[in-house]
Parts: sequence; C-alpha cells; structure tokens
Amino acid sequence: MVLGCQMNLSDSERVKSVIEAMGFTPTENEAEASLLGVLSCSVRQKPIDKVYNKIYVWNRQKNHRNIITFVSGCVLPNDREKFLKLFDFVFPMSELNDFPNMLKNYGIVTPLSLNHSNSQLLEGGNKMIFPLPSTTGETPFKPIKKLNQNPDKPILPVNQDIFGLWNVKPSYQSSFEAFVPIQNGCDKFCSFCAVPYTRGREISRPSTDILDEIKSLMAEGYKTITLLGQNVNSYGLDREGELSFAQLLQQIGELGNQLQNPCWVYFTSPHPRDMSRDVIETIATYQVLAKQIHLPLQSGDDQVLIKMNRKHNLDRYRESVGQIRELIPQATLFTDIIVGFTGETEEQFQNTLKSFEEFQFNMAYIAMYSPRPGAQSYRWDDDIPPATKKDRLHNLSETLETISFNYNQKLIGSQVKVLVKDKERKTGFLSGYTEGKIVTRIKSKDVSLIGKFVVLQVTEASGFSIAGELVL
Ligand code: SF4
Repeated sequence: MVLGCQMNLSDSERVKSVIEAMGFTPTENEAEASLLGVLSCSVRQKPIDKVYNKIYVWNRQKNHRNIITFVSGCVLPNDREKFLKLFDFVFPMSELNDFPNMLKNYGIVTPLSLNHSNSQLLEGGNKMIFPLPSTTGETPFKPIKKLNQNPDKPILPVNQDIFGLWNVKPSYQSSFEAFVPIQNGCDKFCSFCAVPYTRGREISRPSTDILDEIKSLMAEGYKTITLLGQNVNSYGLDREGELSFAQLLQQIGELGNQLQNPCWVYFTSPHPRDMSRDVIETIATYQVLAKQIHLPLQSGDDQVLIKMNRKHNLDRYRESVGQIRELIPQATLFTDIIVGFTGETEEQFQNTLKSFEEFQFNMAYIAMYSPRPGAQSYRWDDDIPPATKKDRLHNLSETLETISFNYNQKLIGSQVKVLVKDKERKTGFLSGYTEGKIVTRIKSKDVSLIGKFVVLQVTEASGFSIAGELVL
C-alpha cells in the first residue's frame, strides 16, 4: 500500500524491484500475499490513520496465516516508535537495500533462497509461506524482530544510503508515465511541515545517473517523465561541481532534441525562493520540458508566510509568475495552499483569495491546516475553528473553479494534444490530460489509445476539465 505523494509512489517502484529480486511475485490479492507492506506518509494525519487501520487487520490475520509486515516511507520518529510495536520491520527508505538481509538475519527464507525441504509452497506456485523459527512457542509469526529499532539512531541526519536506494532499478508501474527522483530531503524547515524530519537534509542524486535513467525512458517511448524531489530547484546546491537545476533541465532538453520521441517532462515541487529566471528560460527553450509549472505559494499573505517560515514573500512569488507569463505565456500554473494556519486572520485569508485572482491558478491543492507532530507549528495553538477552515477552503475552491473554468472555456473550438491515461467510468469515454495537465474526457471506446498521444477537438469545458472528440 502506498500513501502520500509521488515520491512515495516512486520509492514503491524501487521497493518492488528489491522484493521481486528476492523471488516474490507481486499479487493484487492481499489475502494470498505473504509479505505485506506500507509506504507511509507522516506529513498528514489521514494516511497515518490508514496505516493503523491496515496493520490492525494484518495483525489479526496473523492468528490464522503466516504473513510478514513492514513499513517504510516518510515516517516521523514518533510514529516510528509506535509502528515498531505493530510491524515486523520498520526501516527508512535509505535502508531498502538491506531489506533482504534483514529478512535473512531473522531466519526468514525468501523464495529465491528456498530449500523445498523446509518450506511449503502455496497453491499457485511461488507465493510462499515462510518457515520462521518460533522463539516463543506461539504462532510462528508473532513478534519477529525489528531492524533499526534503536531509538538513538535518528532518521533526520543526512543519510548517504539514499544513493543505494537510487541505484535500485525501479519496476515502473506504468509503461508510459515515469517518476524519476532527482533529490531527496529538505533544508527549508517550513514551520508546518514534518518532511525535513522524515526525509532528512537535501541530497542531490548524481546528474549522470538521472540523465541515464531519463535517456532510457525516452528511448523506450515513455510519454511523461516527472522529476521528483522535495525541493527540485535547489538541485545540485549540496554538492560541489554538480549541475544546477537549470543546467540539468538543459541537458534533459538536449536529450529530448536528440531522441525526438514525443515526451513531456514535468518536475515537482520547486520552492519559490529558488525559482530562477534561468529555469524558466530553459523550460521556454526546450520542447520536451512541459509547459506546466507547479509552484507552491501556501499563503497569499506575507505575515503568514513569515510565520510559516516559507523564506519567500508575495513579491518574490510575483516576480517568478511574471517571468513565467513573459517567457512561457501558454504555461498553466498550479499551486499548494494551506488555509486556517495558526492565527490566520480573516484579512490574511482574504489576501490569499486576492492572490488567486492575481495569479490565475489553473489548479490549487488546498489543505485545511492540521498540526503535525514533529513540525515546529505543532507546539502552537491550532486556533482557527474547523468551521472557519472549511468555509475558507470552500471559498477558495469556488474562486479557483471560476478561474479555471474561464481558462478552460477559451479552449473550446481549439485542438489540443492529449495523453490518454485510462478508461472513464462512463462507458464510451477515455480520460487523459493535456501538456498543461488539464484533465480531459475523450469521446472514444478505443482502449488501445491508452498510453498514446491523441489530438482532441475541444467541445466542452467545466470547472476543472475539458472534453472533446478525437481528430482523425
Ligand atoms: S519546502 Fe517546506 S513544505 Fe516543502 S518539504 Fe521543505 S519544509 Fe516541507
């Protein structure tokens, strides 16, 4: 189970490779799995609640079948301590390469190293029941051991082991959309955010490795590639002699020019403080770099931004948006916003509302503030009543919808290139998105188009999507 952001999704592709290399076969059916894990997200409470729900179910199942459980991903020290009591294995992603050894050291035989004399094959081949040494005389899978359970070993400091994780060849989940980690961790310490405490300090992946991975994805015909990191545009700042983010984008742009395979390369998330003109110019220059920019604002009020320790103000943000509009006028603009942050006054919220009118966002991921253990603001009063937070969320969403609708409506009558992603729930339709990531409904039942680019005549527009017919 993968919770949280695209980074966890990307990590899960490497987890899958490591587990498959041990001889396990992936299964969609949880009831037949012997090894069950969660890539968790401590950044919000909701995913953590889901982890607890899941592990209680799995632990109940241990009374009648043999399973091993693990948790990794973004886990705060506090949550980690609690998980140690519930999961068989708890480890940070940077220790993924040790996972086979962790299993081996605790006497768990993996399918590849299996000796048939001391194991049982389940029906259906190589989904295994593991012969665990019973140390307690009780159910063999009652508490096993947990690795990395030394509370003195913090997850926070820079962990160079992350390079080991990056060196694992991922088992991409999609044959046409890929995520490529370029950077891990965060040095910004926004007061509401726990990421620096779960992912550690910023580390850049070597550009040679990134470019190799991207080159092979482009050569294989991947249609979208998303560069991932908590602060992608501070790429390279942690290592002398490394490319800057703009230079990395230039190299990717050159690869796109050489290979000539149609592809859209996105990145997420950049920080407004580090959004240089160089980066925007590079996106404008190279066709392969998608004309969609996700630039988290978080609040449209300078005092709130200071309290959030965002290290940018509205003017800095305005400067970048001005450059985007000047150099890439066709680009769509996405953002992240928190409403109801500690002490946010009505006037401060109204400034956020005004910023929506000013910046004309196509999409905003709006969250009601909730304090996260480990983050600085956890110690402050969460003093905005839930009803006020809800009102602000609703208010902002309505404004966003109107802005987005006005933009989408102007697309009616035009032809747009769309990547077909899936079938729609409604029969006779497919879904996809434009280069600007506008959700698109396509009138067609032809599932062979999934994973391909098509051209669409736009006939309809709504708040957050467009619809149309294929141009043959
Ligand atoms: S920039 Fe701020 S919000 Fe983003 S990961 Fe770092 S601390 Fe969290």
